Amino acid sequence: MSTAIRLLVLWLTATLLLGACERNDPVHHGRFLAFGTLTDISIAGVARQQAESAIEALESDFAIMHKAWHAWAPGPLSRTNNLLAEGVRFAAPPSVLKLMQVSGQLAQQSDNLFNPAIGRLVKLWGFQQDTMENQRPPDSAAIAKLLKANPTMNDINIDGIHVQGSNPAVQLDFGAIGKGYGIDLAIEHLKEMGIQNAIVNSGGDLRAIGSRNGHPWRIAIRNPSGSGTLGFLHISGDESIFTSGDYERNYLWQGKRYHHIIDPRTGYPAEGARSVTVVHDNATVADAAATALFVAGSGNWHRIARQMGIQYVLLIDSNSVVHMNPAMEKRIQLMDESLPVEISSPLIDPEQEPK
Ligand code: ADP
Ligand code: MG
Repeated sequence: MSTAIRLLVLWLTATLLLGACERNDPVHHGRFLAFGTLTDISIAGVARQQAESAIEALESDFAIMHKAWHAWAPGPLSRTNNLLAEGVRFAAPPSVLKLMQVSGQLAQQSDNLFNPAIGRLVKLWGFQQDTMENQRPPDSAAIAKLLKANPTMNDINIDGIHVQGSNPAVQLDFGAIGKGYGIDLAIEHLKEMGIQNAIVNSGGDLRAIGSRNGHPWRIAIRNPSGSGTLGFLHISGDESIFTSGDYERNYLWQGKRYHHIIDPRTGYPAEGARSVTVVHDNATVADAAATALFVAGSGNWHRIARQMGIQYVLLIDSNSVVHMNPAMEKRIQLMDESLPVEISSPLIDPEQEPK
């Protein structure tokens, strides 16, 4: 065979193989860093070029959101925090205003277990930093002082686009909701770009729309250790799955591990849960709820989930007991069937439980 013919045969084989791949697996993937974690985009049902330009658009969306809601780098949120502490009336930056409004409602529904006004506490514990090296728990007197000041979203008066803080201890930290809200905006943007079947997955927290070419999306739920898979869920339509866990950001001090989800009632890292997974149609609510239910722990998650309108919860407590509501149990396939499981009463009235 001449070199030219050999090249032609090679080219034809490669083209045919590519074509076959695209027919069998027409899901396009893109990956970039966002909110300090890897974000994976999967898109089905459109041509590769359309998927690629959508992924590029999302990458720049996420870069803007990351800047807008960064809790400790200078930007719209830090400016807002300075003005809230001063107690002056000011026009809030649009990117922060919407999150403040949504957060206020979710904080109220969660009895302030989700409380994004506790930025000072989060900072005091050393979790507003890029690295967890050389961290140690703060002085108990400093924690007590912030607890006494009791910053909540109720200390922010929102009047149209104007806001005013009435408690200098309030500092917003959207670490427990920003990713969810960002994923909701990303899904809206995908829909505007004509994409109906996709997953936006940021470090294991995700929202999926549509299907994988007619088949439900199959989603892996992380183990509470942060590595490996606890189980699988199928989703089709439009749903979000969010997990909050003590493995995400933490440090060791004198043999004890301190993690980044703070119980606003005690001022210390929340105890009793190792991870909480929430399924909800909206990523913003799923994100805030996963954090709130983590703080609520095995004794209170059910009540708070009902208040927040959550229909699917899985909580692993510190003794590794898996707590679920019946609708969640019906949906999830656990990898390890020998895990101790405790099924709660239904979260919604039995007639309304999804089949
Ligand atoms: P992840 O998705 O990283 O596991 P979460 O969604 O639970 O975490 O958010 C944890 C982050 O939220 C913390 O790093 C901190 O910035 C902030 N935070 C900590 N405790 C609370 C709380 N009780 N309410 C609201 N935000 C919190
Ligand atoms: Mg959260």
